[in-house]
Amino acid sequence: MPLSCLAGNLQLKQQLLPRLTGRRLSHAMIVSGPEGSGTHTLAGILARGLVCSGTGAAPCGICADCRKAAAGIHPDIITIRPEADKKAINVDQVRRMRADAHIRPNEAPRKVYILEGADLIQGEGQNAMLKLLEEGPAYAAFILLARNSGALLTTVRSRCDQLRLACDEPSRDEELFQQAGQLADCWLSGDEHALMDLCVQLEKYDRQQVLILLGYLRQTLCERLSGHPDRRTVLRGITLADQLLQAAERNVGTGHLLGWLCAGAKARI
Ligand SMILES: [Zn+2]
Repeated sequence: MPLSCLAGNLQLKQQLLPRLTGRRLSHAMIVSGPEGSGTHTLAGILARGLVCSGTGAAPCGICADCRKAAAGIHPDIITIRPEADKKAINVDQVRRMRADAHIRPNEAPRKVYILEGADLIQGEGQNAMLKLLEEGPAYAAFILLARNSGALLTTVRSRCDQLRLACDEPSRDEELFQQAGQLADCWLSGDEHALMDLCVQLEKYDRQQVLILLGYLRQTLCERLSGHPDRRTVLRGITLADQLLQAAERNVGTGHLLGWLCAGAKARI
C-alpha cells in the first residue's frame, strides 16, 4: 500500500514521500484528522515504511516484512486499542507497552506501536507515553492516532512529527487532470505521434505527479467506457494504466513509465 492509496491531502503526501522513501521517518508521529480522513490508512502506510527491510525506497512492497504487514500479520506492528467497553487506552496499557518496547523486534528492523485514540488518553497515561517517546529504545516507533491532536500534552506534541489529514474531497490537480484527458484522447484516437509528443512533455513531472496523472488517466478512461464504440480499446487502456500504476508503486522511473505507455500505444495500433 503506497502513499498514493491515501485520498486527497496532496501537500501532505508531497512532504511525506521523500521522508518515507528515503527512510527518514520520525520515531514518533501524530496522525490526526476527522473521521473518514484516512488516519488508519496513513498509519498503515507509515508502519509498513518503518518495518520494511528491503533496499531502496520504503515500503518496497516485496520484502517479507512488507508482505506480512500487508496481510496484517506482522509481529512487529502492534496496535493498542482501548479495552472492551472503555473509551480510551488506560495507563496500565501504556505501561505494558513500555515494558514490551524494551523487548527487541521479532523480525523487522523496527518495532511499531499504533495507538488508537491517543488524544483520549488521560493525564497519567499521557505522562507514561511521554517518557516512552523520550527514552524509548531507538528501534521503537510510535504512531499516535488522534481526532483532536490539541488534546495531547504539549510536551507529547513537541516530540512528534504532526501529520494532519483533511477530510474534504481530494482537490484535483487541474493541470494533471487535463494532461490525462489529452493522454486518453491520444490513446483512443490511436494517434501515436501525438502520444509520443505528449509523453516527452510529461517527463518534466516527478514520480508522485506521474502517479496522480496515471490515476486520472484510469479514471478518465473508465468514464469514457460506457457509450464508447470501441470498448475493447478503452479496456486495454485501463489495463495498461493499472499496470503502469503498479509499476510506479514499485518505484519504476517516470521515463521508463512514459516509454512503456508509448510502447503500449504502438502495440495497439
Ligand atoms: Zn519492504
